Amino acid sequence: MPQVYNWQLGRTMEYPYEERHPKSQFAFVFNTNRCIACQTCTMACKSTWTFGKGQEAMWWNNVETKPYGGYPQFWDIKALKLLDDAHQKAGATMGWETGKPGPSKPYGEYSGMTLFEAARQRYGPEGHQRVLGYLPTDEEWRFPNIYEDTSTAYQGGRLGISAEGASLPEHKSWFFYLQRLCNHCTYPACLAACPRKAIYKRPEDGIVLIDQERCRGYRACVEACPYKKPMYRPTTRVSEKCVACYPRIEGTDPLSEGVPMETRCMASCVGKIRMQGLVKTNPDGSWVEDRQHPLYYMVKIEKVALPLYPQFGTEPNGYYIPPRWVPRPYLRQMFGPGVDEAIDKYTAPSRELLAVMQLFRTTQKMLSRYEITQGPKVYETTVNGKPWAMYNDTVIGYDARGREAVRVTVEEPVHVRPAQYANSI
Ligand code: SF4
Ligand code: SF4
Repeated sequence: MPQVYNWQLGRTMEYPYEERHPKSQFAFVFNTNRCIACQTCTMACKSTWTFGKGQEAMWWNNVETKPYGGYPQFWDIKALKLLDDAHQKAGATMGWETGKPGPSKPYGEYSGMTLFEAARQRYGPEGHQRVLGYLPTDEEWRFPNIYEDTSTAYQGGRLGISAEGASLPEHKSWFFYLQRLCNHCTYPACLAACPRKAIYKRPEDGIVLIDQERCRGYRACVEACPYKKPMYRPTTRVSEKCVACYPRIEGTDPLSEGVPMETRCMASCVGKIRMQGLVKTNPDGSWVEDRQHPLYYMVKIEKVALPLYPQFGTEPNGYYIPPRWVPRPYLRQMFGPGVDEAIDKYTAPSRELLAVMQLFRTTQKMLSRYEITQGPKVYETTVNGKPWAMYNDTVIGYDARGREAVRVTVEEPVHVRPAQYANSI
């Protein structure tokens, strides 16, 4: 089987196809700390793409409550269990060597097997699978946010309140929202598993699509995708998945002025937790150094946003700023060994990070570059015993044609309404 380089794992891995990468890659960053689970994103997607017959239980975008929730139910627990069983059978351990991180291995090196490599451990009547996976039952697809707002059991103690006052340590009782859509992976499991070669990754933007004419509904993609984002439509008898709102990415939306626009789920986000863009890639799949690109900055320079279950091996292109209050072992399993650094960076953000985070949901246009002009110091405090200051810098975002798309300050302007509008009730 060909070997490809997966930079999220810091090593080469087996993949059924030779390396071939798009010119640029659809990618996004979600700040889990800010999501309020309003599901506006979910409904924006549903009302655009999946409102037809046979799509009733289809949610290309969903927001689920962790640790118990999942759509389909138990998707990640089941994938992790398969991976764990394969390691036990092979007498291997799943882990990370975090000793020598570098640009080509920012989180260290994954020493376990991916879902592609572990597939050889499970033989069936037709040989081993191309990707270790499973088909969810119909029942598991029924609820887009089962166990909504259900927290882990409260184990005593005064939650988050210490002698020094309220704080945000890891809570004994916790939940958080995980926003999910297709990750338009660099090494898609869905594509690798399709016996009809009906799935392809677009060379211009890395969007992964299912050719509806070629698909015969075998559901190999549904079985293989660890994130369970391809879905079967019984009325057409073919599989469907997130199309990354490609007309908007192509700049053909009437409001786009010819530049890429963010997808519907991103553009509608009420909590301002989402930012999306196209990152340029080298022929070997690594990201072209682009210091002033907001996604490059957050993922590669600041390392505040991390991939979801990198150990699966698909090199997903969705990145998450992890929630601060959740026990670290749970987060390390979900986002890899970069969790502690990411949370430290987010808890006491650098001057630049604080400015860049103001760009979330300020425009529907995808931003290709940002600049910061410095402003005065407006606030000082200590965070985790260290001094921290806030500056009222101005951050300017530019669209794909280099035109200014947005200009915001770190301090949000305060508007005092004249007394005649005071609530008279
Ligand atoms: S719209 Fe934004 S805040 Fe609301 S559920 Fe979706 S990601 Fe969370
Ligand atoms: S998330 Fe799943 S459906 Fe999307 S590209 Fe990756 S493997 Fe394919």
